[in-house]
Amino acid sequence: MQRVNLTEDLSLSRIVHGMWRLADWKFSTEEILSLIEHGMDRGVTTYDHADIYGSYTCEEIFGNALLKPSLREKMEIVTKCGIVIQSENRPSHKSHHYNTNKTHIIKSVEQSLMNLKTDYIDLLLIHRPDPLMDPSETAEAFNQLKESGKVRNFGVSNFKKPQWDMLQAYLEYPLVTNQLELSAYNLENFEDGTINLCQEMGVAPMAWSPLAGGSIFEESNEKAVRLRKTLEIVKEEIGANGIDEVMYAWLLRHPAKIIPIVGSGKKERLDSAIDSLNLSMKKEQWFNILTSSMGHDIP
Ligand code: NAP
Repeated sequence: MQRVNLTEDLSLSRIVHGMWRLADWKFSTEEILSLIEHGMDRGVTTYDHADIYGSYTCEEIFGNALLKPSLREKMEIVTKCGIVIQSENRPSHKSHHYNTNKTHIIKSVEQSLMNLKTDYIDLLLIHRPDPLMDPSETAEAFNQLKESGKVRNFGVSNFKKPQWDMLQAYLEYPLVTNQLELSAYNLENFEDGTINLCQEMGVAPMAWSPLAGGSIFEESNEKAVRLRKTLEIVKEEIGANGIDEVMYAWLLRHPAKIIPIVGSGKKERLDSAIDSLNLSMKKEQWFNILTSSMGHDIP
C-alpha cells in the first residue's frame, strides 16, 4: 500500500477507511474487528472519524473494537470537531451550529479520546469553517492539545483559501491536510482553486465522498447518466472491475496526491478501492471523465 507523508512523523495510507456510516452498518464488535483487520492486512491503516458521526456514537463503537490494544499502535486515527448537532445523546445541545472556541475543542477531543479508548489522536481536523472562529482561540486549543500529547497533528476540512490562511497565520506549525469533497461527480473544489491551494501549500488533500456518497450508482439525472456512461467506457479501456474503481483511479491520477476515504463497510468494496491503486489512467481518459461530468467540452 502506498503511503502519503503529511509530516516527518505522520504518514497516512493512500486509501483511508471512513467511519461516518459505521453505526448504520449495525456490526457486532467482532464484525468491526474483522473489517479493521481485513483493511490493515491490506495496508489500510488510517481511519477517519468525527465526534458527531452516528449522532455521537461511531467513535465509541469503533473504540470498543480497539480494546485489542496491539491494533491501535499500528493505525492512524483522524477525527474532527467543531460541529454541534442536536442529538438525544447530547441533550444539552439546543441547536445546530459550529463551535471552534478553546473550551469546546478541548472538551470534544477529551470525549473522543475516551470514546476511542486511546490516549492520542494522530490528526485532528476542524470539521467546517466557522464564521465565528476566533483563530487565536482555536490556536490556543491546538497548542494545549499538542503540548499535552493528546493530539499530534492538526488540519481542517472544507476550508477555502481565506479560511485556511486565517487559521494558519495563528499557528507556529503547518496545517497538514484539508479534507474536501472531491470526486468526478462533484467538481467544486477542482473548479474553485481549493485543490490548487493544497498543491501550493504542499499538502495532500483527503477526499470525502469519492463515489459521490453512492449517488453515482443510483441517480437518474442527466449528469449522472452521462458520467456513468463515460466511466463504463473507461472501465473497459483500463481493465477496471467496476466504475467505483474508475472513480478512485480518477482521483489518484491527480498530481495533488489525493487520499480517497472509502465510505463502505463492505470488505469487497474496500478491496476495490485498494485495487484501483494498480490502475493507470491516460490523460485523455481523465479529461473524458472531467468533461462528461462538466457537461461540456473544455475551451
Ligand atoms: P462514498 O464512498 O462516496 O459513499 C459511500 C456510499 O456509497 C455507501 O452508501 C456505499 O454503500 C455506497 N457504495 C460504495 N460502493 C458502491 C457500489 N459499488 N455500488 C453501490 N453503492 C456503493 O463515501 P462517503 O461515505 O460519502 O464518505 C466517505 C468518508 O468521508 C466518510 O466515512 C467520512 O469519514 C468522510 N466524510 C467527511 C466529510 C467532511 O465534511 N469532512 C463529509 C462526508 C464524509 P454500502 O455501504 O452499501 O457499500
